[in-house]
Amino acid sequence: MAQTSFDQLGLIEPILKALQQEGYSTPTPIQAQSIPYLLEGRDLLGVAQTGTGKTAAFAIPIIQHLAVDGGGTGRGGKRIIQALILTPTRELAIQIDESFRSYARHTRLRTTVIFGGVGQKPQTDALRSGVDILVATPGRLLDLMHQGYVHLNDLRFFVLDEADRMLDMGFIHDVRKVIAALPKQRQTLFFSATMPPEVQKLSASLLTNPVKVEVTPVSSTAETVQQEVYFVDKPNKPKLLIHLLNTRDIPVALVFSRTKHGADKLARLIDKAGIRAEAIHGNKAQNARQRALNNFKERKTRVLVATDIAARGIDIDSLSHVVNYDIPNIPETYVHRIGRTGRAGASGIAISLCDAEERPYLRDITKLIARQIPVVEEHPFPANGENAAPIEVPVPQQRGRRNGQAQQQPRNEPRREPRNNNPRGGRRPDARPERKEHPANGRERQHSAPAEKAHGTDYAALTAELMKDLDVAAGNAKPQQGQGGGRDNNRRRWHGSRRNSGR
Ligand code: AMP
Repeated sequence: MAQTSFDQLGLIEPILKALQQEGYSTPTPIQAQSIPYLLEGRDLLGVAQTGTGKTAAFAIPIIQHLAVDGGGTGRGGKRIIQALILTPTRELAIQIDESFRSYARHTRLRTTVIFGGVGQKPQTDALRSGVDILVATPGRLLDLMHQGYVHLNDLRFFVLDEADRMLDMGFIHDVRKVIAALPKQRQTLFFSATMPPEVQKLSASLLTNPVKVEVTPVSSTAETVQQEVYFVDKPNKPKLLIHLLNTRDIPVALVFSRTKHGADKLARLIDKAGIRAEAIHGNKAQNARQRALNNFKERKTRVLVATDIAARGIDIDSLSHVVNYDIPNIPETYVHRIGRTGRAGASGIAISLCDAEERPYLRDITKLIARQIPVVEEHPFPANGENAAPIEVPVPQQRGRRNGQAQQQPRNEPRREPRNNNPRGGRRPDARPERKEHPANGRERQHSAPAEKAHGTDYAALTAELMKDLDVAAGNAKPQQGQGGGRDNNRRRWHGSRRNSGR
C-alpha cells in the first residue's frame, strides 16, 4: 500500500510548514487513519498509546478546524476556549501543549496548559487573556471552572486522552464532572491504550458513531522489544541489578520501581555503587523531577529509577534498556513499561528481575503478550528454593492478540536478535525531530503496596554487603562462564511449559 503523505491529507499550508519544521515527513498510522475523518468532523475512538504519534493525530485536525473557521479571532475580540484536551498527568499536559504550539506556530491560535501542584496565577492570567485551545489535567480544570476562570460553553472539540490511565488514577469522577459541563454538540476524540469494560462504557457514553482506529495493540508492543527475565531472590535484586549494569552493555536504563520510596532507595544504592542514578516520582518537587529527567536525557545520569505514573508520557529517545526491578501486577503495565524502549526503529531490551512472589505476575504477563520471556539462567545471584524451579508459563493460543495478527515467531523459540521495526508501526524520518524537554510531573497513584521494608529488604545492610560484593559482582572481577560480556554472551533457556494449564 502506498504511503500517505501529509500533503495528501488535505492539510492547510501553515500546518504543513510546521510539520516540515518538526521534521515529520510521513504520517504515522494513527495520523494517516484518523486525520481525514477528524477533518470531516467525525468522533473518534483511538486505541493507541503514547509513542504512536497520537498527539499530532488529534492536534492537527483541531488546529485546522479552528484556523479555517476563524478560531483565534474570538468573540468581541476575546478568544474563547473551543478545544479542550483532558489528560491525566502534568507531564502529558505539558507535552501536549507544546505539540499544539509547534503545529499551530504559523496560525494565530493560542494554547495554554493548566495542571495542579503549582501556583494557579500564571494559569489564570493566561486564561484571562483568552485562549482557543486548553490542555488540562482534571483536578486543576475543575478548580478553575469552579472559580469562574474556565468557561466551556462554546467548546467544539473535546479530547479525552489516556482514558484508561485516567480511570486507573481515580480521576473518573472529575472527568465525569468536566464532561457534564460540556456542550452536547461537539466533536469528541477518545484515546485509550487499553479498553477494559469500564473504559468501553465511558467511550460509548461519549461518542456518537465514532471512527475506530486501533494501532499497536498493547500486547504486541512486547513483540518488538527483546525481553529477558532473571529469577532472583528479593534481597539479591539490588546486587543483581548493579551486576548487570556493570557487566552488560547498558548505555542507559529506565528502571521501574513499584513504590516511590523504593525508587529513591534504589537510586541511592545504585549511585553509591558508582553508577550515576536518580529517581523520579510524584513526591519530588517539579524542579527536581525536571532536573533528573534532563540529566537522564543528556546522559549525565545513566540510570533513572521511576514509578509507573512518573514514567508515563516521558518521551525519551534512544532508550536502550528498560528494567523491571519490580514485576508489575497489572500485565498491561509491563507492556507500557517495555514500550518505553525500542522506539522509533531503535532496538530495545527489557530486563525483568522476578522474585518468588512475583511469579504469578510474570505468568499473567506471559499470557497477555502471548509469548514466553526468555530466562537468563547464568548469573551470580540465582534464586533459591521454589523460585529456582522452572516457571510454568502457559501461552494460550492467540491470547492477547488483536487485529488478527499472526504469531511472528515460533512460540518456544527465544528471540536472540533485537528487532528493528518500529513498535508503533509508524514510519519516522531518519533524522528524528528535535526532542522537546518537558518538566516531569505527574499525579501519583498512592500505591497500597508496602514500601521496601515490607518487601523484606534491609537496604542499609544491603548497601554494606553490596559494597563488599561489588568487586566480584561487577565487571572488575573475571566474569564467570556465561555471565559477563554483554547480552550476546548470556545464555538463555526456555522454561516454557508446553501445557496450557491456565492460571
Ligand atoms: P505521541 O504518541 O503523540 O506522544 O508522539 C510520540 C513522538 O513521535 C513525539 O515525540 C512526536 O514528536 C513524534 N511524532 C509524531 N508524529 C510524527 C511523525 N509523523 N513523524 C515523526 N515523528 C512524529
